[in-house]
Formats: sequence, C-alpha cells, structure tokens
Amino acid sequence: MSKYLKELYQGLEVYTPGEQPKDAVYIKLNTNESPFPPAPAVVEALKKEDVENLRLYSDPTLSALKSKLAKLYGVKSDNIFLSNGSDDILNFAFMAFGHKGAIFPDITYGFYPVFAELHNVDYEEIPLKEDFTIDYKDYLSKDKLIVIANPNAPTGDSRPLHEIEEIIKSNPHSVVVVDEAYVDFGGVSAYKLTEKYENLLTVRTYSKSRSMAGARLGYAIGSKELIDDLMRIKFSTNPYNINRLTATLGEATVDADSYYTEKCKEIMRVREYTAQKLTELSFEVLPSKANFLFAKHPDLDGAKYYEELKKRHILVRHFSKERICQFNRITIGTKEQMDALIDATKEILKGE
Ligand SMILES: *Cc1c(COP(=O)(O)O)cnc(C)c1O
Repeated sequence: MSKYLKELYQGLEVYTPGEQPKDAVYIKLNTNESPFPPAPAVVEALKKEDVENLRLYSDPTLSALKSKLAKLYGVKSDNIFLSNGSDDILNFAFMAFGHKGAIFPDITYGFYPVFAELHNVDYEEIPLKEDFTIDYKDYLSKDKLIVIANPNAPTGDSRPLHEIEEIIKSNPHSVVVVDEAYVDFGGVSAYKLTEKYENLLTVRTYSKSRSMAGARLGYAIGSKELIDDLMRIKFSTNPYNINRLTATLGEATVDADSYYTEKCKEIMRVREYTAQKLTELSFEVLPSKANFLFAKHPDLDGAKYYEELKKRHILVRHFSKERICQFNRITIGTKEQMDALIDATKEILKGE
C-alpha cells in the first residue's frame, strides 16, 4: 500500500472471488457458473461480429439490448439499466442510495459489506433465523437501503413474493434492492411489482443462468426515476462499460431465451438429484432454489471436506465465517460432474 492512498480505502477488506486455479483441471463447483455453454445462436452471433468495428465505441444507450429485455419482461426500456455485471449495479446502488445506511442479512452475498465500506455507508447485518432463512419482519419500516438476495446466497433459500412486497411497501422512503442472480432456478421475481413501487430495484445477471459470467453483463429493472439515478452515476464514471461484443451476445441471449429455460430446468433436476444423494450420505442440505446447494455433514469438518475434494480436483466454496464454517456451497454442474462429487464424497467419508 502506498502512502498516497485515501485513508478510507486503506482499511478496506476487499471481496475475495472464488478460485479460478490454473495448476490442474478441476471440476469447478465453486463460483456458480453454468456447466452449459451459451446457446448455439449466441456463439453464431459472435462469429458474425465484424472485429474491425471494435475501433468504434459501443452504443452508450444500448437501446437495442434494452428494448429486447423490455419486451421479454413486459416493461419499458426506461425501466432497464445495463452495466458491466450485476456487481457493478450493486456498487452503484450502494453509492447512490446508501446515505441513510444499509441493512442486509448476516449470511448473504459477501460483496454487500465491501460496497458499504467502499462508499462509507453505515450498515447493519441482521442475523438469519436459526434455519438460515430471512425473517422479512426484520426489514419492515427501516428507512434504509435494504439489500436482499432472493434466492439468498450461499444458503439457497427463496422468500415468497408477498414477503418481499411487505418489505418494499413498508419502506417507501428508501430503496429496496432485490438481487435476483439466482431467480431463474426456481425463485419468484419481484420485477412484476415495478409499476407499483418506485423504490424497488430488481437486479439480474447474465452470469449464472445465461452462461455468460465471462462476458460481464448485468441489468436492473426499476422505476424510471431509479434507473435515471443509476444512469447519472454510470455517465459520471464510464458510459461505455459494456463493450460491443458483450452487447451483441446479450441481444442474442434474449432471442435464445427458451434454450436457457431448458438448461435451468436441467440444473434444477440435477440439484434435486444431488440433494437426495447427499442426504443419503447423512449430509444436512438446506432447501435450495438456486444453482447450488449448501450442505454440511455431522462427522466431516467443513474445511476438511473442501480440502479433500480439492485434492481430488473438485472445487467447492468454503466460507470461514463462524456461523457457516461447517458448510460448503456446491455449485450444480452436469449430472456426470455431480456423480463425480458423490463418488469422491463417499471416499472421503470412508477415510480413503
Ligand atoms: C454471482 C452473484 C452476483 C454477481 O454477478 P455478476 O453479474 O457476475 O457481477 C451478484 N449477486 C449475487 C448474489 C451473486 O451470487
């Protein structure tokens, strides 16, 4: 660290992304990426792109992509904000709407406290219930920026829409961000309430259900006023933060929506299969509406399970936070990958 760095940033505890190791070939079940490639039409769209056009800036209004998304969700283009991954949007949301303070659960996406610290936002972490679910009553009439991942990560729990609506309704003077990174795996989306509540911001990503984590594309749906606020910030930092290729891929992805719906169904089937197998091996598996499972075993230390799997070239995500350190978060891959995980797990349990 240099002596030139602003004091606020000196103490910052940065977000630690999941490993992307290069030393061997791993079955990667640690960062909730899709095991499936983008749709064939998306690959074709990229091939058709004229690379020479990269000399030109991308369209800062992204009107073509916005109107496709607007049509898909039955909202107006004015209700859509696009940015370089949903992390980017969450960052802007803390920057724009966090001045009265923020609240989110104690066990949730690890980036929220980082954004809060970055923007000097006071924040309160509300403990999940004993069963690792959110009690929506904890978030009523708070008059602060509220950030809820629904389904939540790393637990996988999904709250019904009426609970989310109660939170939005009771906080009319502050923004409620619903982070729906995993909603396509069985959750219920809040975006349908957009017309009813001007304080609702639903945040979505192409990274998980759209097989495009590496292209960096996220979007938010909200009232025109909130979207304008986010545009103000984006146009004060980097109006071109979505490159031409990603915008093209984003459009082709919307056109191929049914491909992704099928892949999500497959992931949900494999999730239930894996949960069943782990339960048979005496794991406690939290109910999940996401593309991962959060599981622990009564006789197998969480960190040890992670290490033993890694030795067998299977990567899962372990968090050292005390309340969840006996758990591991296991991304749902293909059925073959999950069978490999189950086989390795049996070995580990036998002490082989
Ligand atoms: C993966 C994830 C994101 C980040 O997605 P990007 O669009 O890749 O930045 C946001 N929120 C949650 C809860 C996530 O798990």
